[in-house]
Amino acid sequence: MSRLSDGGSAVTSTRDGPRDECGVFGLYAPGHDASRLSFFALYALQHRGQESAGIAAADRGGHIITRRELGLVNQVFTENDLHTLAGELAIGHVRYSTTGSNAWENSQPVQRSAGTNGSHRELALAHNGNLINAVELHREMLEAGVTFSSTSDSEIIAALIATHPSADVEDAIAEVLPRLKGAFSVVVMTKDRVVAFRDPHGLRPLALGALEPGDDGEVRYCVASESCAFDIIGASFIRDVEPGEVVTLDECGLTSRQVMPGERRAFCIFEYIYFARPDSRMNDQVLQVARGRMGEILWREAPVDADLVIAVPDSGNAAARGLARAAGLPQDDGFVKNRYVARTFIQPGQELRKHGLRLKFNPLPEVVGGKRLVVVDDSIVRGNTTRQIVQMLRDAGAAEVHMRISAPPIKHPCHYGIDMSTREEMIAHDRTVQEIAEELGCTSLHYLSLEGVYEAVRGSRENHCDACFSGSYPLEGTGQARGKYALEESTGPVLPLVQA
Ligand code: SF4
Repeated sequence: MSRLSDGGSAVTSTRDGPRDECGVFGLYAPGHDASRLSFFALYALQHRGQESAGIAAADRGGHIITRRELGLVNQVFTENDLHTLAGELAIGHVRYSTTGSNAWENSQPVQRSAGTNGSHRELALAHNGNLINAVELHREMLEAGVTFSSTSDSEIIAALIATHPSADVEDAIAEVLPRLKGAFSVVVMTKDRVVAFRDPHGLRPLALGALEPGDDGEVRYCVASESCAFDIIGASFIRDVEPGEVVTLDECGLTSRQVMPGERRAFCIFEYIYFARPDSRMNDQVLQVARGRMGEILWREAPVDADLVIAVPDSGNAAARGLARAAGLPQDDGFVKNRYVARTFIQPGQELRKHGLRLKFNPLPEVVGGKRLVVVDDSIVRGNTTRQIVQMLRDAGAAEVHMRISAPPIKHPCHYGIDMSTREEMIAHDRTVQEIAEELGCTSLHYLSLEGVYEAVRGSRENHCDACFSGSYPLEGTGQARGKYALEESTGPVLPLVQA
């Protein structure tokens, strides 16, 4: 993921929320068309990254072939590509959108090979997260003579594993894992196995699934950032990969090693609120249901005299339904959303730019005119989008606009793989809620409390990260972590460090 602004897409630039992260997938599946299943799994994970997509595939014992390109999953792969990627095991990756000449180099899966212990190791790797000690590891490897073709922290992980002297890739991963600090859910593929692992705090999600038995009756396994990837390929969710666990999918089926037990868990609370698809299951919660509860609690915390509940589509849909249910108020569509807008790379130009968000949302005056509205969205980062939404509703004749946000105010940057702008750009970092309401031009504003979020997800603070709201970073040394351009500072004129 890069901090560069969204210049490349006319439309993603209208999204003001936290930037989506990355999605990973992997499976070992003799008897199945592994790359085709990967394609559809990535299709289900598309919301986690729209800049680039990639699949690496191999036949047991054959070579690894990788195709990765800028664009959405169904723009990157053709039927012909999937034939070329024929194999029995595969991994895939979708990446958050950005622009810049370096964008392709930082797409994934990363492919690395190295001579190790008298043999040749070839691997492909897909990563979701961000290492907070990437600069140190990068410098150390450069000094050891290792070269890099990108500045992604994902390539650092790939290089560490590829060059590790252990003859067994699983042993190499078990030794490399404790050296990595930060957030990482990683899928590695060699020519004959898929190995997946998750950081000891479990910051980013990683789920384990089972495919329906093939003609040979064998159960084959897969891993994915979210369980919605399993549904689309007919696989069933088994469980989450445990923090610090390494799982291997190969001809023996599924094996597991708990490499680093006992760290404080710190699953990203924002996955429930915003990032993950509502039909995904995380920590035994179906997110659509948890988000509905957020809406109910929002109403309990801040009821108001109103006529109608509307959502900012689609991010506020589930919470708006919950809020309307709790309030006993009618709910309607206040906006029509252009669902194809993310697919255009044509810039709007000066003439259209003044219409801003109308490219994406068009308010319905017949629905909102004269009404006292409760408007539900999932988060506010800089506030630009919310300000425009409030103005559009007022222009469409709304009598009152009461904003209700199903997350607390975002005041601190994320160092664990999510691009949330700088602290100074965040509208809440130095303002009270009343000042933010005035800045946005809304009649009233309420953010869901942190206690309300935990009540809705039926979780506890001890097991989660909520640093972007609280400023309490769960990993030691996060305060010293340098920015995403850190590699540029440390090694001279190289590309910006990107996150997966
Ligand atoms: S800082 Fe926020 S977005 Fe980042 S991992 Fe923690 S909860 Fe998630």
